[in-house]
Amino acid sequence: MKDLYIDGRWDEPAEGGTRDLVSPADGSVVATVSEATRADTERAIAAARRAFDEGPWPRTPEVERGALLLRLAALLERDRKEIAVAESTDTGKRLVESEYDVDDVVRCFRYFGGIAGTDAGRVVDTGRADVISRIVYEPVGVCGLITPWNYPLLQASWKVAPALVAGNTFVLKPSELTPSTSILLMRLLEEAGLPPGVANLVLGAGPEAGAPLAEHPDVDLVSFTGGLSTGRWIMAAAAGTVKRVALELGGKNPNIVFADADVEAAVDHALTAVFLHSGQVCSAGARLLVEDSLHDAFVGEVVRRAGRIRLGGPFDPEADSGPLISAGHLAKIEEYVAAGVAEGAVLRCGGERLPGPGNFYPPTVLDECRPDMRVVREESFGPVLTVERFDDEDEAVRLANDTHYGLAGAVWTRDAGRAQRVAGRLRHGTVWINDYHPYVPQAEWGGFKQSGVGRELGPTGLNEYREIKHVWQNIDPKPQHWFRP
Ligand code: NAD
Repeated sequence: MKDLYIDGRWDEPAEGGTRDLVSPADGSVVATVSEATRADTERAIAAARRAFDEGPWPRTPEVERGALLLRLAALLERDRKEIAVAESTDTGKRLVESEYDVDDVVRCFRYFGGIAGTDAGRVVDTGRADVISRIVYEPVGVCGLITPWNYPLLQASWKVAPALVAGNTFVLKPSELTPSTSILLMRLLEEAGLPPGVANLVLGAGPEAGAPLAEHPDVDLVSFTGGLSTGRWIMAAAAGTVKRVALELGGKNPNIVFADADVEAAVDHALTAVFLHSGQVCSAGARLLVEDSLHDAFVGEVVRRAGRIRLGGPFDPEADSGPLISAGHLAKIEEYVAAGVAEGAVLRCGGERLPGPGNFYPPTVLDECRPDMRVVREESFGPVLTVERFDDEDEAVRLANDTHYGLAGAVWTRDAGRAQRVAGRLRHGTVWINDYHPYVPQAEWGGFKQSGVGRELGPTGLNEYREIKHVWQNIDPKPQHWFRP
C-alpha cells in the first residue's frame, strides 16, 4: 500500500505494517491503510529538512505561496463530495456535517492564501539616519503537525495552511482512526504544484509514528491538537530540543443561561452546543449553567428535545447525529455517566448505549450536578450534558471559571451590559454571546489555561509559523573607540 507521502513520492512503510479502518457506524472494515513506524517518520522528517534547507519553497515569495493555497481551495471545492464521503466513512459523522467541514476547510485555505504577502514585516524607528533597521519574518523550519479524529481534515487545514504560507515544510501525522482525508489532501497539494518534500504524510499510532515529531532535533516546531494528557506528553518531549510548541487541547465549556434569555433560542442552541457530532467537539457546551428560577422549565425542554434526536449512520438521511468514534470511547462515556450518577447526579434522559452494531450512545442529560463531580470536571467528549444551577451573575462566573480548561463558553441574556461583563470575566479563549459554536478563520482560536498554548487561525495563527528576525544595518559605520585604538 503506497499511502505515505514522503519527499514527493507515494511510499509504503519500511516494515510493511497495515491497519484496518473500522466504521464507527457498523463495525465493518472500510479500508486498510499503512501503519508507519518511527523509521518512516524519521525518513519524512529528513525529506522535510532537505526541502527546507535546500528547496525553493522557503525562498518563494509569500504571495506565490498564497496563490498555491488558493489553487488548492479550488481543488478542494471540486472534490467536495468525494472528500466529505471519505470523512464521514472514517468518522461516522453525517454526510451533511462533513460537507460543511469541507466548506470550512476551503474557507481556511482561502483566508491564509488571501492574507499572504500582506505583512512583510516593518521598518523600525531607531532615531538614526545612518541605520536601516527592519523586522522580517522567516519560516520556522520543519513543522510536525499532529491531528485528532473528530475534525480530521479541518484540524489539519488549520495547521497546514499557515505553515505553508509562512514558507515552512511539514510532516503531518493524522489520527490513526481517520487518515483518509489527509491522504486526499496530499494528492491535491501535489496537483496544486507543491514542490517535493514540502508536505509529507505519515500514518500510524501516536507513540510510534507521531512521537518523533515531538522529539526529533530536526523538527523545529510541533503543533498538536488532541487530548490533554497527550498534549502534556508532547510538551515534555519537545523540551528536549526546545522546539516551538503549539497545543490545542480539550475543553469543559460552560454554557450560561440567565433567566432573561431568549429561551427558545437558548434551548435550541443548548442542544447543538453539546450534542453536535455526538459531543465529540472540543468546544462542546457540555456544562449547562442555568439560573435557578429558569432551571426547571429550561431543563425540561432540553430533555424533551434531546429525546427526539435520532441517531444513525453517516449516510442515513433520517439521522440527526451519528455514532461515537470507537467502542473504547463509548465505554469511556458510559463510565463518566455512571460516575456522575454515583456521585449524585440525576439522570434525566439517555444513559444507556443503543444495541449494536455501531458505537451509538444517546443524548444524555445529568441534572443537579455539582462542580466537584468527575463528569463535570473532566472532558467526556461525548453526548453528555451536565446541568448546574446558579443564583446570580457572580456565582455563574465562578462556576464557569471553576475548571482547569479554558477553551470556550457562552452566555445567554437579553441584558447587553451583563453579557459584556460576563464575557469579560470568563477565562476562556472564545466567548459567544447569545450564540454557540460559530467561528471564522479570520478570528483566533485557542485555549486559556490547560486548553492549550498558542492560537490557530487569524493573523496570530500565521505568526505561530514565523520566526521574527531583526536586521540592523549601519550604512555609515565609524569607529566607536569604546576600547582604545
Ligand atoms: P489524542 O490525544 O488521543 O490523539 C491526538 C493525536 O495525537 C492523534 O493523531 C494521535 O495518534 C496522536 N498521539 C497520541 N499519542 C502520541 C504521542 N505519544 N506522540 C505523538 N502523537 C501522539 O486525541 P484524540 O482522542 O484524537 O482527540 C480528541 C481530543 O482532541 C479531545 O480532547 C478534544 O478536546 C481535542 N481537540 C481539541 C481541539 C481544539 O481546537 N482545542 C480540536 C479538536 C479536538
